Amino acid sequence: MATATETKAISHWIGGRAVERPATTGGDVWNPATGEVISHVPFATVAVVDEAVAAAKAAFPEWRQTPLARRAEILFKVRALLDERREKLARILTTENGKTLPDAMGEVARGLENVEFACGVPNLLKGGFSEGASRGVDVYQIRQPLGVVAGVTPFNFPAMVPLWRLSNAIACGNCFVLKPSGKVPSSSLFIAELFAEAGLPAGVLNVVMGDKVAVTRLLEHPDVKALSFVGSTPVARHFYETGTKHGKRVQALGGAKNHMLVLPDAELDAAADAAVSAAYGAAGERCMAISVVLAVGAVADPLIAAIEKRIAAIKVGSGFDASTGMGPLITREHRDRVAGFLDAAVEDGAKVVVDGRKDAATKENGFFLGASLVDHVKPGTRCYDAEIFGPVLSVVRVKSYAEGLKIINENAYGNGTAIFTRDGGAARQFQFDVEVGMVGVNVPIPVPVSYYSFGGWKSSLFGDLHMYGPDGIQFYTRSKVVTSRWPDPTTSKVDLGFPQNR
Ligand code: NAD
Repeated sequence: MATATETKAISHWIGGRAVERPATTGGDVWNPATGEVISHVPFATVAVVDEAVAAAKAAFPEWRQTPLARRAEILFKVRALLDERREKLARILTTENGKTLPDAMGEVARGLENVEFACGVPNLLKGGFSEGASRGVDVYQIRQPLGVVAGVTPFNFPAMVPLWRLSNAIACGNCFVLKPSGKVPSSSLFIAELFAEAGLPAGVLNVVMGDKVAVTRLLEHPDVKALSFVGSTPVARHFYETGTKHGKRVQALGGAKNHMLVLPDAELDAAADAAVSAAYGAAGERCMAISVVLAVGAVADPLIAAIEKRIAAIKVGSGFDASTGMGPLITREHRDRVAGFLDAAVEDGAKVVVDGRKDAATKENGFFLGASLVDHVKPGTRCYDAEIFGPVLSVVRVKSYAEGLKIINENAYGNGTAIFTRDGGAARQFQFDVEVGMVGVNVPIPVPVSYYSFGGWKSSLFGDLHMYGPDGIQFYTRSKVVTSRWPDPTTSKVDLGFPQNR
């Protein structure tokens, strides 16, 4: 294993360049497929965060005046560079996160969509104009940027989740401070370099590496006007409460427990394909992963058999190996925590149908766990209640659509869900009834395209607006309504009454 002295040091990115600053704490970056430390992240002190916020604040007056056409031109250039370097970025993701290279390429493609959406900023920032709202009076609405905004991101989508926010925020005229997960720092620096190469002025985008100290400073800093967070629910809740207490605009996306409701009339093979793809893709480390199948009535036995058959074909290994279906988990501790749910499931009365630990046992290094399937899981047990965030799929057997729906709606989370059926009426009823923010009809991972917005309900999102797309434009701008009259001395008079539009 590489020692700390052999590893590469990661920098911050402030004022348009990589900067190294003394740190009192830091973290190791692992290659989860080999179990080796590959670099070291120095965590920002309060002074480093303040430096990044100051750089963003200094860049704001000029950036907000930069013509929309020029902002769009830079984003088009970012789009071209990102397109050209997709694989380079994907390789960074596979190295630090462990996901397979094709999966990483998919992540880059979905991030790119957000840049493409933001390229339309001249159109997106169009306001409204009402001529003659009153006699000689026009009313119009404009949307203005907030100033310095910050984003905190998780380990599981190290490129896409930063791009969810950056593109819209910057397009709208804000200056950004990004605090990525310390487990996967390099893609954020790659993205910052790329924006700089595309012509983004220094200070408009800054990246600080850090932990709770950096996040707390961003939440409390008087010059930071809005913050967005993506990560686990306990941190999201704390983030939202602290940020709003300090008078900031906050959106905080949290964890998930996504259910797939399979009705007896579902196309069985398609449902099994979808369940396996959505449960074990990215080793289950997606906030939109399916972690519970609600099997209605007689569909349970054949569906479980079909899933089991497909699991046998999933090869676990390095994400760079073309035959690998599923890479490692992010850390050894997380892998062991996830594996622990298999023992908990048995203790709580469920049945482990496929135990992924046998796969892990064949690999000396790396944080691997094979695809695991647990049957007869019940709400109220550990395997059901926790967000496991790994390759463990639970099957809950239910008697009816109504019983399945009740379980979904009573769950604390409400990120994504899906129904599998051939019955259009049942699907339509489901989309009406279900208390979840993103719904799939025979689509297991219903992540909205970039021109809609992404967000869950209940403990999966704290705040009012969803992320990216039209909600993203609203989040990163303030509305101003101007009521205007050009004086006409012939009609001017004193009137102490409240203005009426006659
Ligand atoms: P995490 O909550 O541990 O970390 C997220 C970010 O918060 C990181 O940048 C981390 O450095 C920082 N952080 C961690 N603890 C903190 C603390 N106490 N105070 C301040 N900052 C802190 O999440 P993770 O493990 O990186 O990511 C996995 C989680 O993210 C899962 O729960 C997953 O469901 C969720 N997620 C949600 C979405 C969504 O859109 N809803 C998307 C991706 C991931």
